[in-house]
Amino acid sequence: MSRATVATIHLGALRHNLARLKALAAPAQVMAVVKADAYGHGLERVARALDSEADAFAVAALGDGLRLRAAGHRQRIVVLSGPDSASDIAEMQRLQLEAAIHHDVQLQWLAGADAARGRLRVWLKVDSGMHRLGFAPARVAEVHARLASMTGVDPEIGLLTHFSDSEVFGGGQTAAQVACFNRATQMFGGPRSLSNSAAVLGWPEARGDWVRTGGLLYGLSVVEGSSGEDFGFRPAMTLSTRLIAINRIGKGERIGYNGTWTCPEDMPIGVAAVGYGDGYPRSAAAGTPVLVGDRRVPLIGRVSMDLITLDLRSVPGAKIGDRVVLWGPELPVEIIAAQSATISYDLTCGMTRRVLFVEDEH
Ligand SMILES: *Cc1c(COP(=O)(O)O)cnc(C)c1O
Repeated sequence: MSRATVATIHLGALRHNLARLKALAAPAQVMAVVKADAYGHGLERVARALDSEADAFAVAALGDGLRLRAAGHRQRIVVLSGPDSASDIAEMQRLQLEAAIHHDVQLQWLAGADAARGRLRVWLKVDSGMHRLGFAPARVAEVHARLASMTGVDPEIGLLTHFSDSEVFGGGQTAAQVACFNRATQMFGGPRSLSNSAAVLGWPEARGDWVRTGGLLYGLSVVEGSSGEDFGFRPAMTLSTRLIAINRIGKGERIGYNGTWTCPEDMPIGVAAVGYGDGYPRSAAAGTPVLVGDRRVPLIGRVSMDLITLDLRSVPGAKIGDRVVLWGPELPVEIIAAQSATISYDLTCGMTRRVLFVEDEH
């Protein structure tokens, strides 16, 4: 048998999640964020599943926009980091991609744009307090005027900002960022975009004209202590493998690298064919739940490159070849992320090339 580790992508869940996002965000439109290979689910696969239902796509960089156009998608595509070089401008015009503009160096490149190649749609990115990308609020008027004067730029200039803490519902940081953005942009027309997934759930005052949602599209939540399912979204990935060994190990014996777990009694230890070489987190703590058949059993010992070890005391009927689920609809990936000191996005983005991807319509 070939490699056992399989990521099943649930196309029906993707469609359900987009429909739910559109309903929640209305009347705002939805940019389906498909950066990082659609959060590890596969860019072309996800775009094909959503296609005409997505009002627009958002990607991190030009190369992903090129892949979407090559796959035949005709809708608006926003490049969230904008051009990375002067030569990107002509390429973005050719592909009719829209550029977030966050830095003076991009203004210089844009000023050299050849208007004969078509007017580039741009989104002026405002740094309302995250301090990653964007122009300071005090510079928005000047930058807006400069963009408006450029012949290679479409006169309808969008306004965009990004939140650092929107999963903290009711928190002061997001309220301050909304107020800052509104103050800095109130004198301008043009479409506005503020919200990521968590903000769609918790910050209705930040709807604007377009929301930019990634996580919830894949059924993933970053709201502490909750899964996407708690908000009516469905997980779009199941990661599964098989049990390849069951061994009886004696009381007091140590399991795995560095013997971080010791058997409290004679007991069955299951070995499943998945490890950090597939993207299962090496940081997953002992006790992290894993599904064997329909039973949750605890991970024990260190996650290694190709294998994990499981406490099978509660599943006496377990057999070699049994299906093992690492995360999916029956075992929220948010639980695994919390046990691994990370977030769900990090896990789905981390699938490696040896994982076999398959699709189902559910
Ligand atoms: C990744 C990203 C998003 C989407 O965030 P989610 O939490 O996945 O919805 C939106 N806007 C920008 C600028 C981003 O980088």
